[in-house]
Amino acid sequence: MKVYLDNAATTPLAPEVIQEMFSVMQEKFGNPSSIHSYGREARSLIEQGRKYIAGLFNVTPGEIFFTSGATEANNMAIRCSVRDLGIRCVISSPIEHHAVEHTLQELSQHGKIKLVLLKNAGEFGEVDLTELEALLEAHKNEKLMVSLMHANNELGTINPIKEIGELCQKYHAVYHADTVQSVAHYDLDLKEIPVDFITCSAHKFHGPKGVGFLYINNRIKINPMLTGGSQERNMRGGTENIYGIAGMVKALQLSYNNLEKERQYITSLRQHMIDKLKSEMPGVEFYSDLDHNSLYTVLSVSFPPCDFAEMFLFTLDINGIAASSGSACSSGSSTGSHVLIALGKNGDRPAVRFSFSRYNTREEIDYTIEKLKEMYMVKA
Ligand code: PLP
Repeated sequence: MKVYLDNAATTPLAPEVIQEMFSVMQEKFGNPSSIHSYGREARSLIEQGRKYIAGLFNVTPGEIFFTSGATEANNMAIRCSVRDLGIRCVISSPIEHHAVEHTLQELSQHGKIKLVLLKNAGEFGEVDLTELEALLEAHKNEKLMVSLMHANNELGTINPIKEIGELCQKYHAVYHADTVQSVAHYDLDLKEIPVDFITCSAHKFHGPKGVGFLYINNRIKINPMLTGGSQERNMRGGTENIYGIAGMVKALQLSYNNLEKERQYITSLRQHMIDKLKSEMPGVEFYSDLDHNSLYTVLSVSFPPCDFAEMFLFTLDINGIAASSGSACSSGSSTGSHVLIALGKNGDRPAVRFSFSRYNTREEIDYTIEKLKEMYMVKA
């Protein structure tokens, strides 16, 4: 049996998305910037997609910019804000995705910003609002940006995006939220959430790789990061990835049209795994919040120390099970997970992130548990 439980890393394309992209590839090859009918058809497809996405987040189409994914979108939000808005101090956390973390570190190393990191994460890495407010207060005389992710990709922990946004508003700080792991799984009404930038990557929800978008609140005026043609209303040069955009829009439609049903289904799979791990695997602990405040798609599990810790993922893989290392010092990586290290979870317990999608089944979870029991030689 082959079981894919690494959906926070990437997801398989939905068949409907493949179909949609295939038909666009066959029928719409025009350059969206061309004025003839081929170009106009491609342009219209892109603008319909933009309008649909804007509707999902209750914003205007002019606030959505297509990118090559979330790494580009996060870079654009941060780098262009620092360059064009006079941002001198950025408040962030030590458990951001590398697309944010490394960008901020680089800017800090080059003396472009003062980087201030939150220290007092909660048990699951959640932002402490009191600490955030204290930092905002301490730096209120500087031009401030806050970059804090909505949901953590390793632990699943969800941050209070609305409350963070309200604090940013109070202190006139620009707020960038990496929403890669929550888009397509949660409703995000940006009229209710005071945020300046959110980011998205389509391959996290059964769309294609290499495409995503950046939302930029109308009040923010920045210049492009990628200069070139006048695409994306002069904000991102480069011929648009129309196949990717069409695929992303289809994937969003599939997700948002079935949001509640999918949430229930995936939550029940995750709960099934939690129940089985608790009852059948002695010594297992969880790094994800099991009660509330966690993505229903992610479960970070800490297993008892063992002599095959370095080979844990490899052994799972040999058994046909794909998952990710959440371990502080994992095989193949000299540094380990910066997220677990930041939270002080860097002992000798192997940590594995299992992440789920609509295509997983209970049988796959049962199979995974059986294999884990075999690895630990737990008696049936
Ligand atoms: N942010 C988060 C939270 C992610 O999980 C990822 C992907 O792993 C990214 C950003 C970067 O996305 P991409 O590699 O598609 O640009």
